[in-house]
Amino acid sequence: MIPNTIPNFIDGKMCNASEGATFIRCSPHSGDKLFDVSRSSSTDLTIAIAAAQKAKKAWGNTNPVVRGDMMRKIALRMKERKDEIAAIVAAETGKALIHALGETKAAIEMGMFVAGEGRRNYGKTTTASMDHRTVMTMRQPLGVAALIIASNTPIANVAWKAFPSMFCGNASIMKPSEDTPGSAWIFADICREVGLPDGVFNVVHGFGQEAGLPLIESEDIDLVSFTGSCNTGKVVNEIASRRLAKVCMELGGKNALVVCEDADVDNAIYWTLESAFSNAGQRCVAASRLIVQDSIYDTFKQKLIDATRSLSLGNTDKDFLGPMINAASASRIIEAVNQAVSEGATLLIGGIKADEKLLRNGNYIVPTILENVDVNASASKTELFGPVTCLHKVADFEEALLLVNNSDYGLSASIHTANLHRAMEFVRHVEAGVVVVNGGTHGSEPHMGFGGVKNSGTGWREAGVEALDVYSEIKYVNIITNPELI
Ligand code: NAD
Repeated sequence: MIPNTIPNFIDGKMCNASEGATFIRCSPHSGDKLFDVSRSSSTDLTIAIAAAQKAKKAWGNTNPVVRGDMMRKIALRMKERKDEIAAIVAAETGKALIHALGETKAAIEMGMFVAGEGRRNYGKTTTASMDHRTVMTMRQPLGVAALIIASNTPIANVAWKAFPSMFCGNASIMKPSEDTPGSAWIFADICREVGLPDGVFNVVHGFGQEAGLPLIESEDIDLVSFTGSCNTGKVVNEIASRRLAKVCMELGGKNALVVCEDADVDNAIYWTLESAFSNAGQRCVAASRLIVQDSIYDTFKQKLIDATRSLSLGNTDKDFLGPMINAASASRIIEAVNQAVSEGATLLIGGIKADEKLLRNGNYIVPTILENVDVNASASKTELFGPVTCLHKVADFEEALLLVNNSDYGLSASIHTANLHRAMEFVRHVEAGVVVVNGGTHGSEPHMGFGGVKNSGTGWREAGVEALDVYSEIKYVNIITNPELI
């Protein structure tokens, strides 16, 4: 059962923030109070960092097979408590239970994938120009890792960082989003239950400036792994880089989905809805730009408006999309749409808060499509992180590709076409970390490296075996033998 006040988890114990400070978290669906949350400050961070520092040596020296086994234990216990986890995810995000359960299963799968690395954790051997010299690599922990995460898929966000960080031998301190503390709380509770050594995983709740900043400023943090917006990421990156800490940034996107004249339009509509509006558009890979060739533009537009109108909002398993994570985000979206319209955009559908009686107290935004948005206007260039997409008309493939790449971001992109040659040209030239042909602008699975180019990140890939490169150092080992001493 989730406690009335969500505590921090430091040195293996659940504890209140210093002086018992708390803040209130309300349901994005109903506006009702969910729970109080520990409101941490630099005092709490100092304690958490000391606990991690104390734990890092023994944990880093633990056999990787044993660390992998511990990750498996956590994942298996998550599986046993999956309904409880999903209920917390659903409550604190407002999304339907079925979607929360899907996300929970993905988080468990990440644990199982990372656990398997305990039996791999490969290095390499290589040649050397000098005789009798054997060269190989081995992975070593970094020390203490700060894991700062966003709210949109909270238990997956926890798993994507916590499992590889701990597996690689780091003592870790997580700062979850202030909007979704419950998911990190239950993960910590499971770590405690299965006997993870004290101080190996710590959770400190609170706001970015109060509970995040002291982490990234600390000389005792060796890695800052951050998932969040580009604006916050730039601040975090700058501060951590001053002391040359290792920094991994997984940031936003302004992802484009292209529909060519030879596309299967119904398939493109299906994936457009999934990409633009699922999770209420609160996905780093959301398709917030739809780029459609002029010969099918009118057909696509009409089908899309009709399909969007039929989407149901709410938090039941029958609903397609839920609310925005908080009231401020909902207001921000409405303002951005109004601004786009004042700058000449046409509002095709949405742009308002949902008015149904059951949804009125929640942060629901009607799925929104804008047309005639200037390609350099804010609505087409800035990540809105909500159920809003811009429809752009282009003459041909070349113009489509130019427009896709006319972005400061480069996370995910998709093209719908029956032409293999065109698809492969797109794959080669699109500036994105993930590209999809005839599907959505979707993210990754646990075994797939995920990340973006340009302002979408700092070049690292999380998940997959690529995550091991984020969370460990690679040491080159040279062994020189003397044949005369055999
Ligand atoms: P945000 O940047 O506002 O906050 C992210 C985290 O940073 C939160 O925990 C917040 O408390 C913390 N934070 C804020 N200010 C801080 C500071 N000064 N110092 C330290 N920590 C600070 O982002 P958000 O609104 O919570 O999440 C949405 C963003 O996350 C979107 O841009 C989305 O694209 C991105 N995102 C990216 C990925 C990815 O893998 N690339 C995945 C999910 C979300």
